[in-house]
Amino acid sequence: MIPYARQYVDEDDINAVVEALKSDYLTTGPRIKQFEEAFATYVGAKYAVAVSNGTAALHAACFAIDIKEGDEVITTPITFAASANCVLYMGGTPVFADIDQKTGNISPTSIREKITAKTKAIIPVHYTGQPCDMDEIKKIAEEYNLIVIEDAAHALGATYKGASIGGISHMTTFSFHPVKHITTGEGGMITTNDAQLYQKLMQFRTHGITRDVTELINKDQPDFYYEQQSLGYNYRITDVQAALGLSQLNKIDLFIKRRKEIAKMYDEGFLNVAGIKTPFIATGYDSSWHLYVIQILNKSRNEVYHYLKQQGISVNVHHIPVYKHPYYKNMGCLPLENSENLYEKIISIPMYYGLKNEEVQYVIEKVKEALR
Ligand SMILES: *Cc1c(COP(=O)(O)O)cnc(C)c1O
Repeated sequence: MIPYARQYVDEDDINAVVEALKSDYLTTGPRIKQFEEAFATYVGAKYAVAVSNGTAALHAACFAIDIKEGDEVITTPITFAASANCVLYMGGTPVFADIDQKTGNISPTSIREKITAKTKAIIPVHYTGQPCDMDEIKKIAEEYNLIVIEDAAHALGATYKGASIGGISHMTTFSFHPVKHITTGEGGMITTNDAQLYQKLMQFRTHGITRDVTELINKDQPDFYYEQQSLGYNYRITDVQAALGLSQLNKIDLFIKRRKEIAKMYDEGFLNVAGIKTPFIATGYDSSWHLYVIQILNKSRNEVYHYLKQQGISVNVHHIPVYKHPYYKNMGCLPLENSENLYEKIISIPMYYGLKNEEVQYVIEKVKEALR
């Protein structure tokens, strides 16, 4: 089977992990800080906080801006459920805006329609790796005094009008699940340029506890003293994972270059093929190609999906609109037109660093065959 996504782990990664295992620190050690610093530099942010997974990163971001009962947060339904679950964890209400038909990203026009007096934040998701319309989103946020948390789980290495994703908004979150651009097994990161948010994120990661004397509420304490100032979680990443993350980050340019090559091969392979729509990338938007999503226009998506599976291609569908999940439906979330239209047509075909040219050609042939 050719999977739709796969991690790439080489000897350097293995050696880095072995070295960490032989060191004094398995959990919080020096590699976490090194990973955070290298990551912050790469995305052009002042601060980065590594956590146990991308969902924890979203949860921490919602905590840092104090989302609570009565607060509404606008996000897209064309995402993984975590982009909305993080709002629920804090007692807030996720509100779904519809997508732009061309890009599949959240539509600024629809965001405007969903704003109420209770709206506190927007969580745009850079679907498949193509950035959202950040200028418009920023404009709306400024107009209504809203906070922007970018869910960039798909978009490590993407740029928007020349600016790296990760340094643009109040906070940006990433995931290091094996299907994403770099992996730590499980892992996540939040980036920010705001010192106060950074401090809150750091506390939240470790039970709401601080040891920093400058932060203590009870002053003049002995050495061993630490204090819990808020209700945090154990969302720490391990030094072993950070070792892998650092080593993976060294290869990010190669990873993205290859993903772009594959995207180009697919674009060319499907050029002038009837019944299929390839991804639309707007000018000035540089995708880092987490996914390559095709739309099946005049055949049943499910038939094409099953055919490709039978041919040994493990295709997938990203994403089932979040409001369709029974949990969300029971909360009263309703379908949105553009999201429904997109969902009916989409298939994610294989896209990962280790995918070979012959495999790309095989996928192109089999997709064409399925359309006949
Ligand atoms: C993968 C992903 C997440 C969650 O990341 P985990 O590390 O699996 O918790 C959140 N949002 C989006 C859009 C994702 O693709």
